[in-house]
Amino acid sequence: MSPVLKLPQLTIVVPCYNEQEVLPETTKRLSALLNKLVAAQKVADSSDVLYVDDGSKDNTWSLIRQAHTENPVIKGLKLSANRGHQIALIAGLFSAKGDVVVSIDADLQDDVSAIEAMIDAYAQGHEVVYGVRKLRQVDTVFKRFSAEGYYKLLNLLGVKVVFNHADYRLLSRRALEAIKEYGEANLFLRGIVPLVGFKSTSVYYDRSERFAGESKYPLRKMLSLAMDGITSFTAFPLRVISVMGLLVSFTSLCMILWVLWTKFFTDSALPGWASSVIPIYFLGGLQLLSIGVLGEYVAKIYFETKRRPRYFIEEML
Ligand code: UDP
Ligand code: MG
Repeated sequence: MSPVLKLPQLTIVVPCYNEQEVLPETTKRLSALLNKLVAAQKVADSSDVLYVDDGSKDNTWSLIRQAHTENPVIKGLKLSANRGHQIALIAGLFSAKGDVVVSIDADLQDDVSAIEAMIDAYAQGHEVVYGVRKLRQVDTVFKRFSAEGYYKLLNLLGVKVVFNHADYRLLSRRALEAIKEYGEANLFLRGIVPLVGFKSTSVYYDRSERFAGESKYPLRKMLSLAMDGITSFTAFPLRVISVMGLLVSFTSLCMILWVLWTKFFTDSALPGWASSVIPIYFLGGLQLLSIGVLGEYVAKIYFETKRRPRYFIEEML
């Protein structure tokens, strides 16, 4: 590479919540990777790692501080409270200084060496590079089926997401600035990034077990992220309600005609238990479901109109 060409400054953003068990190893691997990339003249020597402490209750922040004193390439940002993975990630992305930014989880489940492939793709002119899992062998059967089914459902509903891609990705400065333009409080990055456009590609990697510690994503948080992904991007469920309403009304009309016919033209007009009880349960369930879906969207409007700030930074290293 010619020395006049300016090398891109890379920032690796890592959200961390109670990650004291893995953090030292993560720091070791990421700084080794940075050294390698700098030596290979792929990124500028001002490149850094930005840890975002998402209001951890353990020693995460003091470990980040210690890593920073030992190696100033490691930077830290402490949020004032636990705000969840998506918000922590956004806080890191929006504070990152680099010309290219890669986001990765702290737990080393995503193969860090894929970052080099991402940088290569960036050098070839791609502004968004998605890290895509090759296999999901290490995930539990439940996680695998629910996750893959969910990606398929999103695509079916018309939300463009990259199959088996989570939040391991490279963004160019331009793509990142474009994402900042999206003002919604509930930013579902996996849905927003494909909307932004620019030239993009994917790199594939094997996903491994968590290096240490346990998942910070319990079922409750997973479901809430899944719901956000749908209700932030499509009004399709609302349309389903209307269609269901139409179908049920049409069926009721047929029922009425049948009842009248039975009453006036046959002798078998027994007071029917089944035919009155079944519709009551069915319609009750349908109505509750529909109100629930409407409620989800109303709640969205409620939170968005508040225009609440997403996070506060308590400390920066
Ligand atoms: N995380 C976070 N805030 C939270 C929960 C998780 O910043 O409230 C971080 C966590 O430290 C990790 C990443 O988000 O770096 C992904 O979490 P985890 O590995 O527990 O999720 P899983 O891989 O099990 O889906
Ligand atoms: Mg993980």
